[in-house]
Amino acid sequence: HPVAPATPQRVQAAIDQGLTTDPMPAQAQSLAQYKAEGGYQALSQCYQDPDSAEALVAQLEDAGLRGLGGAGFPVGRKWRAVRAEPAPRLMAVNVDEGEPGTFKDRFYLERSPHQFLEGMWLAAHAVGVEKIYVYVRDEYPACRALLAEALAQAQRLFPQAPAVELRRGAGAYICGEESAMLESMEGKRGLPRQKPPLVAQVGLFGRPTLVHNLESLYWVPEVLRRGPDWFTRQGRHGRSGVRSYSISGRVRQPGVYLAPAGITLRELIAEYCGGMAEGETLYGFFPGGASGGILAAEHQDLPLDFDTLQPHGCFIGSAAIIVFSQRDRARDLALNATEFFAAESCGQCTPCRVGCGQLAQQMTLQRWPAESIQVLAEVMQDASICGLGQAAPNPALSVLKRFSQEVE
Ligand code: SF4
Repeated sequence: HPVAPATPQRVQAAIDQGLTTDPMPAQAQSLAQYKAEGGYQALSQCYQDPDSAEALVAQLEDAGLRGLGGAGFPVGRKWRAVRAEPAPRLMAVNVDEGEPGTFKDRFYLERSPHQFLEGMWLAAHAVGVEKIYVYVRDEYPACRALLAEALAQAQRLFPQAPAVELRRGAGAYICGEESAMLESMEGKRGLPRQKPPLVAQVGLFGRPTLVHNLESLYWVPEVLRRGPDWFTRQGRHGRSGVRSYSISGRVRQPGVYLAPAGITLRELIAEYCGGMAEGETLYGFFPGGASGGILAAEHQDLPLDFDTLQPHGCFIGSAAIIVFSQRDRARDLALNATEFFAAESCGQCTPCRVGCGQLAQQMTLQRWPAESIQVLAEVMQDASICGLGQAAPNPALSVLKRFSQEVE
């Protein structure tokens, strides 16, 4: 259903009823402020030049911006692929930020909704999109209100821009998976689709669809304003670009930090988080939310970026880093994550529906049956339809590999 606007009064009512603690953000950049900083200039120029789409794609390719929802697919290449498909094309934006430990999309939406909107319409222009659907997490009512207001303002400024429909997600983690999100937008249960076909070919309502995470679009105007070179010059330890790391857990100052791609955990904690919290010693960390596995303190010098953690059986995903200390047990955290997956499994395929529950059950034993867990994990990784079931064994496997003293 199209979203009912969440006015400040409705948000306050939701807070009063205990439905949310999410207050109305106070410091969002206004339209006037955004325009004063050069905002919406790139979009105005594009709308004046019908041939600007190709140049836009080329600039994004040069910048090497990658999708920041977790998969890291190059943005420019995705635009080119969807543009090559027959019209009408649609666009779906994922603001259903549900990975445990991730809160960067909310951070950016609360601060600069217009930068996101400009990026969204620039992408739509580059690809030749006719209509845009934005899927906003229901647990972010204040963000939704803010976005609805900013959208109304921006639509008055650009009446020629493609129409935008805001849709409400309703609390299912699986609806953050791109094809499940499309199903949900179509009014069905959020069940991930079998692939192929890819959503770029057969997506929302059967049409070729450009699917993006909010943050990927947020950086598009910035890359155009500062130039692709600015973006590629950032980065450390041989990596390129910037990443927004959501850092939580036992550090002195948790938060969202924009840092060079490839920065290490040691550097992040020291330079951005003010060190570990008082009296805490680093014991391990989740580098990519609940699904990206668990690394130990000895891995704090690994560059954190797409592709760099694969040799360790982990991935960075949406860069949600959860830091834990000597007072925590990795097995408890892994069990918590696995129970989360068991609760959130959509139940469509057996390896995940049954596997998550069995895995969690085995992880409650004092001594973990390592061989049985490994066989079960292999089946889940090989035979689950979507990433939830495929990644669900990662925390358990990490504990067996790195924290075996806790479970033997
Ligand atoms: Fe559903 Fe899990 Fe299968 Fe994904 S892997 S389709 S979440 S049951």
